[in-house]
Amino acid sequence: MQATTLQSLLKPHLAGLEEYTPIQPFEVLSQRLGIPAAEIVKLDANENPYGPHPAVAEALAEYAYYHIYPDPQQTELRHALADHLQDEQSQSGDIPTTGGDRDLAAPSVPSDQILPGHGTDEVLDYLCRMFLGPGDAIINTPPTFGMYSFDAKLVGAEVLEVWRKDDYHIDVQATRDLVNSAAQDGASARPKLLFLTSPNNPTGNWLSDSDLLRLLELPMIVVLDEAYVEFAVETSRSPWVLDHENLVIIRTFSKSAGIAGLRLGYGVFPAWMMPVLWKFKQPYNVNVAATVAGLASLRHVGEMHSTVEKIRAERDRLFLALQEIPYLSPYPSSANFILCGVEGFRSSGSGDAAALKHALEQRGILVRYYQKPGLDNCIRISVGRPEQTDRLLAELSYLA
Ligand SMILES: *Cc1c(COP(=O)(O)O)cnc(C)c1O
Repeated sequence: MQATTLQSLLKPHLAGLEEYTPIQPFEVLSQRLGIPAAEIVKLDANENPYGPHPAVAEALAEYAYYHIYPDPQQTELRHALADHLQDEQSQSGDIPTTGGDRDLAAPSVPSDQILPGHGTDEVLDYLCRMFLGPGDAIINTPPTFGMYSFDAKLVGAEVLEVWRKDDYHIDVQATRDLVNSAAQDGASARPKLLFLTSPNNPTGNWLSDSDLLRLLELPMIVVLDEAYVEFAVETSRSPWVLDHENLVIIRTFSKSAGIAGLRLGYGVFPAWMMPVLWKFKQPYNVNVAATVAGLASLRHVGEMHSTVEKIRAERDRLFLALQEIPYLSPYPSSANFILCGVEGFRSSGSGDAAALKHALEQRGILVRYYQKPGLDNCIRISVGRPEQTDRLLAELSYLA
């Protein structure tokens, strides 16, 4: 049979998908620029510039059972995560509100409402495949992280967009209106999942408790992605799953714990969803190296907090310094990156952000740039080490 005939066997919605644009591997870029990898200042992917605690590498080196399959139930990791979530709440200083009646003691999520995944990417993929198919929809709140719409389209679902307001806060009323009108219009796709991100990537802003509570009133699953919550002054809303049957919280080891390359994330779910997830998940979805590294990170949470503190302090220093650069307008951020509008850079007009990104790249500094609706002429700078900030700032002043 001809390849074209065989291609017709593919699911029809796959033809309409856009290809994911991968970023260039670090080594390839280093060769292309002719700059040794060690001299490149990589501030383009919100990675943790300090990497994991040294105990992580030690634990990986000492582990003796790589020839054995992982524990499909991830029991040790789930218990360690439950302890971690509880400690986090009791250390947060104030008595956490869960938006329910449970506000007296630090509420605690049991380990059986936690499910680790191969990065949060896998957890997001599970949610989309569990709830969505053709005729269904997600509500996305751009500008935001790209994976939500990517995963939804992969299963043939529609993406309904509620654009953020000028200050990048969620338009709660517009979201509610859209859900209500979709419910009344029999022809439209049914919105089932609402994706929220706090702090949001790439805008850095926090979603308030009151906005979240109003969105939780909607008759759909609310997925709150907390990939950057450790960098915010506010605390994780993970205990809220105890009081809200339609809330899922997503967390990751990629950012604050510094093991993006090992792929480890987790979801905190309402109890009713767990039996479905257990049936649904790949038995060996989390590999042994990620598990060993995750457990070692959790044994050194205190040191992780010190690293997070350093990054936060550096973010605040970077923010003040960026405000002094004439062609940049930084947005306040609760995460480990800062979004900046670019205007008047070398009077290049509408290509300002691209021109700046390329000029920095030639000098060995990598940042993300955006030229799309809601992110017109913007760059996003991840917070690095102090000496990386110094190099960035020197180049930004030089380029002015
Ligand atoms: C980086 C990031 C993640 C983390 O994804 P992993 O698959 O765990 O590496 C999740 N959500 C957002 C918004 C992010 O920016």
